[in-house]
Amino acid sequence: MHKNLIAGRWLDGTGVRENLSPSDTNDLVGLYAQASADDTQSAIAAAEHAQPLWAAKPPQQRADALDFIGAEILLRREELGTLLAREEGKTLPEAIAEVVRAGQIFKFFAGEALRIPGEHLDSVRPGIEVDVLRQPVGVIGIIAPWNFPIAIPAWKIAPALAYGNAVVFKPADLVPGSAWALSEIIHRAGLPDGTFNLVMGRGSVVGQTLVESPRVKALSFTGSSDTGRRILHSAGARFAKLQLEMGGKNPLVVLNDADLEQAIECAVQGAYFSTGQRCTASSRFIVEKGIYRRFSEGVQARLQALQVGHALHADTQIGPVAEQGQYEQNLAYVDIGLSEGAVLACGGRPLQRDTQGYYMSPALFVDAEAQMRIAQEEIFGPIACAIPADDYEHALQLANASPYGLSAGICTTSLKYAAHFKRHMHSGMVMINTPTAGVDYHVPFGGTKGSSYGSREQGRYAAEFFTTVKTVYTHA
Ligand code: NAD
Repeated sequence: MHKNLIAGRWLDGTGVRENLSPSDTNDLVGLYAQASADDTQSAIAAAEHAQPLWAAKPPQQRADALDFIGAEILLRREELGTLLAREEGKTLPEAIAEVVRAGQIFKFFAGEALRIPGEHLDSVRPGIEVDVLRQPVGVIGIIAPWNFPIAIPAWKIAPALAYGNAVVFKPADLVPGSAWALSEIIHRAGLPDGTFNLVMGRGSVVGQTLVESPRVKALSFTGSSDTGRRILHSAGARFAKLQLEMGGKNPLVVLNDADLEQAIECAVQGAYFSTGQRCTASSRFIVEKGIYRRFSEGVQARLQALQVGHALHADTQIGPVAEQGQYEQNLAYVDIGLSEGAVLACGGRPLQRDTQGYYMSPALFVDAEAQMRIAQEEIFGPIACAIPADDYEHALQLANASPYGLSAGICTTSLKYAAHFKRHMHSGMVMINTPTAGVDYHVPFGGTKGSSYGSREQGRYAAEFFTTVKTVYTHA
């Protein structure tokens, strides 16, 4: 059984969770301890004790620890990728790429531990000097979703540790395997006991305890908008520092002058790979009328040729849906789209494979309207809809008509429209002639409107959340 890591010790919880593969629900990936609220409180106390010890270590020691973690992740990419693909259902190449990303993130923040920013200025008053220091926040609660079981934890844990904080990490219930493997590596990196704690278990128990504890000074959360809103109300009321990364309904605008093959590729890659389970996945194709039919037919042809299957099979291009609830929700949205009057061009059906898993064919709705539920609500599966637009201005207006604002793409050969879109699209990330999903780790990540709350993740912008600014005036 895989145990929780609390105060440097591996401890049983109060229950056990079976981690089953969505490619084959008879494949038991492993057994994982479930922490109680008391276990979580112990982890918070351990983190509170360890944090000043960790922050007092020389930056070189923090850098070396993060570098060790990154190096081991990279070395074990195939093994960890296989575990990830098995428990989450993305294909093996996608899973290995995610593991590599996690390793690179730790390497990046190993460097950042040596470059903690600060400023020195002359005061506006004579004889006084000003220092702007960045200091650790304290104990950080990290709450992760299931769709990137190692990369999202990495991009929260690495900066938290680099800047001298202690961590209590709660992975998603569905994917404890990758979280445990990552934690086991961190455990061997030479951190003082309690600097990093793993508490696996329910959101309503472990997550809620982190959210409510006044000793947890900051919470970095990625997950659904509903949970994010709940955390905002509860932890915001006690003035915790919050970073909430939530849902998306990302548009891909395709203009008449687009390179058709490139636009089809952006659509298929961005909307359907990783089984559409990416917060940055495009789920609304907003297509100018002159190219609409050719684009829709091209996407449909590509989808019908994609191989849906077991995450570990070599010819699989689209793995299963990650869990039963999400699977049922996806199929229900197909019915909703049909009942709203959208035309199902292809897919959206359950598929039988050799093993019992959550397989479905990738779905494309055409002739959808912007106000339909399938065009407004995040589905989080391999389902997208095509909406015709009169011209660029109309397309931009439709693209912006969403409560979300995470990532947005445009396919065009017009510099004029690309430049305009870059400035006038209301989203945290804009992609020009490249899929809406697929981001770099050394630059900021996050959205606007209902997609994100708080400061950006990743790259040097992570310092904003994981440090507290102190302004010091010295009269020499
Ligand atoms: P979720 O909100 O159900 O769960 C996320 C995490 O919150 C899990 O660890 C869960 O156990 C925990 N949780 C649940 N209830 C809680 C509570 N009351 N208090 C504290 N924690 C609680 O989300 P999910 O289904 O795991 O992930 C899918 C969602 O994540 C999608 O909406 C997707 O768009 C979003 N997502 C966003 C980003 C981004 O960066 N914007 C990235 C990936 C996924």
